[in-house]
Amino acid sequence: MKTSIATVCLSGTLEEKMQACAAAGFDGIEIFEADLVVSPSSPAEIRALAQRLELRLDLYQPFRDLEGVTEELFEKNLHRLEAKFQLMQQLGMNMILVPSNVGTATVEDDTVIAGQLRRAAELAHRYGMYIAYEALAWGTYVNTYWHCWQLVQAADHPNLGVCLDSFHILSRGDDPSRIPEIPAEKIYFVQLADAPELGMDVLPWSRHHRVFPGEGSFDMVEFMTYLTQAGYSGPLSLEIFNDVFRETDPSITAADGLRSLRWIQQGARGHLSTDNPARDQLTAMPKIDPVEVIDHVEVTTDAPDECGALLGALGFAFIGQHRRKTAQLFVAGGVKVVLTPVHQGGTYISSVALQVANSNDALARARALGAPVVSRPVTADEVRLPGVFGPGGMQFFFVDDTAASWPTEFGADLDRLADNTNTIRLDHLNVPEARDHFGASVLFTLATLRMNALPGQDVASPRGLVHSQALESPRGGIRWVFNRVPRTYTNRAGEPVRYPGHIALAVDDLEQRAAAAIDAGLAVLPIPTNYYVDLQARFGLDDATVRRWQRLGILYDRNADGEFLHLYSETLGGLFIELVQRIGSYQGYGPGNAAVRLAAQEQHEQQRRL
Ligand code: MG
Ligand code: MG
Repeated sequence: MKTSIATVCLSGTLEEKMQACAAAGFDGIEIFEADLVVSPSSPAEIRALAQRLELRLDLYQPFRDLEGVTEELFEKNLHRLEAKFQLMQQLGMNMILVPSNVGTATVEDDTVIAGQLRRAAELAHRYGMYIAYEALAWGTYVNTYWHCWQLVQAADHPNLGVCLDSFHILSRGDDPSRIPEIPAEKIYFVQLADAPELGMDVLPWSRHHRVFPGEGSFDMVEFMTYLTQAGYSGPLSLEIFNDVFRETDPSITAADGLRSLRWIQQGARGHLSTDNPARDQLTAMPKIDPVEVIDHVEVTTDAPDECGALLGALGFAFIGQHRRKTAQLFVAGGVKVVLTPVHQGGTYISSVALQVANSNDALARARALGAPVVSRPVTADEVRLPGVFGPGGMQFFFVDDTAASWPTEFGADLDRLADNTNTIRLDHLNVPEARDHFGASVLFTLATLRMNALPGQDVASPRGLVHSQALESPRGGIRWVFNRVPRTYTNRAGEPVRYPGHIALAVDDLEQRAAAAIDAGLAVLPIPTNYYVDLQARFGLDDATVRRWQRLGILYDRNADGEFLHLYSETLGGLFIELVQRIGSYQGYGPGNAAVRLAAQEQHEQQRRL
């Protein structure tokens, strides 16, 4: 379907916003009036720029507080509207958004409102314009899409239709299932916005916290499916009021937005039977099976010796160095870690390689989601792993059967690797993301690998709130957590600190493993005594167990599903390792313990500097 985006979503001048939308690949834009008013460009210049950029000017918005008013005020509103139609003629546009009245409405009478809408539509007709009427969730008298549609029906004019905005419908908990009852030709425009569940008043929620489809908690795919069933074939437009987007490079936001429109169309295709002709309206993405296995993780480090020692203490075997490059392969059980030494920049997860049935299909899907391809030169006899850059800069590589021999480039014997008796497994990855990239990284990973999102969580750190979003593959093979980290993460000396990510390894015998690893040189993050006093009180644990766990730095959680024991290594320049043991069918990550960990890391960092 054609794609569009409201200029209010983006930072920058109107001209910069238009450039960013065109570069991202949008078909059109909505001109947000305030962006035009502050622009030095004349309407004719904006029209010319749009033509040059091959961007359609889909919608002029908003025209506020038109209807449900006294006759005297309505006459004035018609004059105001006529001036906008004249302006739109100069812009070469023909559709205006009229949201339901929130400011001046005093006449709660559907006959009057429909009559006024009809007169506005008659004026629109004289100018060759169309009015898309939208119910705002906080509209004084009109605040549901169904009421909006009833009024449009009553006004009965070919230049008047409805605009459906997912936020206004879903934020009220309204049922979108009646959308297919609206004739397609009367749905003039569609605005898509998602939002996280925040339990706040709908107006500030809408003005500050909208996010792209797939980045919030509304069922956007279901909404899109209803639109498709209605037969809607106009543009899918994004209207996102978001404080972070307003501060982010518009080219990043525009690219993220277009990705969300590709994702939602693919999702709706999945909900429609293949013989449904409406399905063909939706732009398809290359399809792959959900990804369930991480093949290997690459850690880039300016401290390769310390990093290798950390892995060694945890039971990883050093397999060898790449025959041509400085990268080193470490293996424990089913976990492969490639260490890539660099001169500076700390230690962090730089790439994740995923096992897929066909790496070309996976690459095509990632590219359809807007990811740039990684170019990694190989020689003729080396395995080429296709890969892309995720929105936050992390690289994703795809490994299929034809590439499974890559460890031999590190001198590995594949049969012996498969025979490894170590039972260690990859439990989860935890990747920090700056605010600018967080939502996009979550959506990109979820959409590319076909994972599911769990409810998000806020975790208090001494330097600000960390928002944590866990993704899981459908069969539970991959757990991947993204942490949105505080904007400025600095230590007491004001130096920026790299907020650490981690690799969590699952074992079946955490206490024995921890004791052996500590003997082998593992430095465990010290956890304060207060935590253990609280733990003992909460769970009624015996003294000996708590003392043993404290000595080993083990944290604990228990719920109806089972138990969870885990510990953290000290941080190595931006990365640490977590060891976890899941008992029973415990699925979580020890809620509450993350805050203990963040405070302990802060404390530890400061002591190290003294
Ligand atoms: Mg809207
Ligand atoms: Mg963890």
